[in-house]
Amino acid sequence: MQYNPAMVTLARESREMTMGELAAKVGVTPSLISKIEQGNREMSEERAKSIASALSYPTEVLFWRDPVYGFGSSSFYHRKQQSLPQKALKEIQAFVNFHRIRAKRLSSALDLDFAFTIPSLSVDDYGSPEEIARAVRAAWRMPIGPVQNLTDWIEAAGGFVVQREFSSAKINAISVWPPGENPFFVLNTLLPPCNLRFSLAHELGHLVMHDVPEPEQEAEADRFAAEFLMPAADIKSQLRGMDLTLAARLKPLWRTSMGALMRRARDLGVITDRQHTSLRVQLSQKGWTKDEPVQISQENPQLIPEIIDVHHSEHGYTASDLADMVGLYTREWLDLYEPRGLRAI
Ligand SMILES: [Zn+2]
Repeated sequence: MQYNPAMVTLARESREMTMGELAAKVGVTPSLISKIEQGNREMSEERAKSIASALSYPTEVLFWRDPVYGFGSSSFYHRKQQSLPQKALKEIQAFVNFHRIRAKRLSSALDLDFAFTIPSLSVDDYGSPEEIARAVRAAWRMPIGPVQNLTDWIEAAGGFVVQREFSSAKINAISVWPPGENPFFVLNTLLPPCNLRFSLAHELGHLVMHDVPEPEQEAEADRFAAEFLMPAADIKSQLRGMDLTLAARLKPLWRTSMGALMRRARDLGVITDRQHTSLRVQLSQKGWTKDEPVQISQENPQLIPEIIDVHHSEHGYTASDLADMVGLYTREWLDLYEPRGLRAI
């Protein structure tokens, strides 16, 4: 069987290795690695084994045919990508692809049934991102008021959510929804939980509204997120008299940041631009711009752990069976997917 050059690149980048570093580890020239990754070179079984071993992956990973999706395709949105160094981008791209492929492999054996779907709706048809946010809430039959656990709703609509601490806070969240697969979200846990929720809602907005990239997509996704988490009809009257004390009081209720609540008050016309600016200044004087008081609890994704549970309890798979299924050595599988080692026994 022919190896897949794209998987060699992905495996290397997931280990944050340059071609030179991989070459040194394997004991070949960087130009040979480069030719292998371009697909210009036959690879013997022996060579495949030594490359895979240098990357700490089982050899078969290099032969996977799974498609790899990159930045710039319409299904791959994230914020501020231009400002991130190339190396960090590649690492994140490799992380997202591997986790996406593993989630797909874990779930493909199961007949998963989801309560909802993520609809595709266009701003042209609906008039505004806010109207679309209301439409999605209605389609999902969400109760009036705050969204208690956004991750739960996304998972009920078939979305996989993975949390990870990235080396840079410049990237909040990434979503990707390749054809024929489940929507996939990655959240950067460097951010506080309330910011993560806003980012997750923002990514949901992209998946709903932006089949193809659009010039106004970032502002539209923010407007979608604000209305989705803080519907105007439910929150407006509570924002009257907005100040830092009120923002701190509303934060655990709505589970959105004080900054987002203040912005909401401005956008709904409850306070003026000037009042908003003055509140921002007060927030910053207290050193709360980056580190707000009043913590809210983190949301924990359940879907992938539940799938793993089913494999263990109903299919009798061991951790090593599941590691095989997703192309990892057992040790790394346990670190990544069953960190407490509860099911290792
Ligand atoms: Zn975005």
